[in-house]
Amino acid sequence: MELFHHPLALLALAALFVPLERRWPLRRAPWLREGWKTDVAHFFLTSPLQKLGLVLVVGVVVAVVDPYRDSLVQRQPKALQLVEALLLLELIGYAMHRAFHEVPALWRIHAVHHSSEHLDWLAAVRAHPLEQVLTRGAQFLALTALGFPLAMFAGAAGVLGLWAIFLHANVRLRLPLVEGLIATPAFHHWHHARAARGNYAGLFPWIDSLFHTNVTQPSWPNESGTDDPPAQSWWGQLTLRRPPRGEGRDRTAPV
Ligand SMILES: [Zn+2]
Ligand SMILES: [Zn+2]
Repeated sequence: MELFHHPLALLALAALFVPLERRWPLRRAPWLREGWKTDVAHFFLTSPLQKLGLVLVVGVVVAVVDPYRDSLVQRQPKALQLVEALLLLELIGYAMHRAFHEVPALWRIHAVHHSSEHLDWLAAVRAHPLEQVLTRGAQFLALTALGFPLAMFAGAAGVLGLWAIFLHANVRLRLPLVEGLIATPAFHHWHHARAARGNYAGLFPWIDSLFHTNVTQPSWPNESGTDDPPAQSWWGQLTLRRPPRGEGRDRTAPV
């Protein structure tokens, strides 16, 4: 998650999500569950790498497309710009996320994120830095080319980033009336279900419905993860190493 690498941000997120996960857990988990060190390393080390990559992408885009030019988009009300920016980011994010699953070379990068077998708020930060650089880079290019101001991209990307943390939370929370409109943990937990092929959106599940990839069910998936995970250490994941022989899987059953 490109937004976070400060210790206070980690503490603030823990203060927000740990009580929720303890009060309404989807799966029982120890305080320090398996893989927490890898995820904390992602929090502190992957984020700066993502930032570095994004700064390079933004530099190239800004050199080619003037983000400060007058545009029709910038003459619209700010609230409308934000809605449009979120929609565009979601459509591009859907396409990129689906490509990360369907193109073998990209899947190898995205498999880092799907290697989590213990979904919770902290698991949200487990991702290869290239994934965010490519996705956010494509989104930034599109928004800038269309005339959106830099702040609107930052605001919309911030909303998606924070919401992504919530989507991974280990909370038994179903909101049937809004689940078709806004993504909830159940929507994204089904995306992480072993062998699942769908639920690629980050905020608007109806985009998956439009493309016939909404795989949400009334129940919860039995387990998360992938049969093709990378190594479990942060460095192994950064360098996309295969797991050593015997590096086992530990699964937890729903409460
Ligand atoms: Zn995915
Ligand atoms: Zn996820």
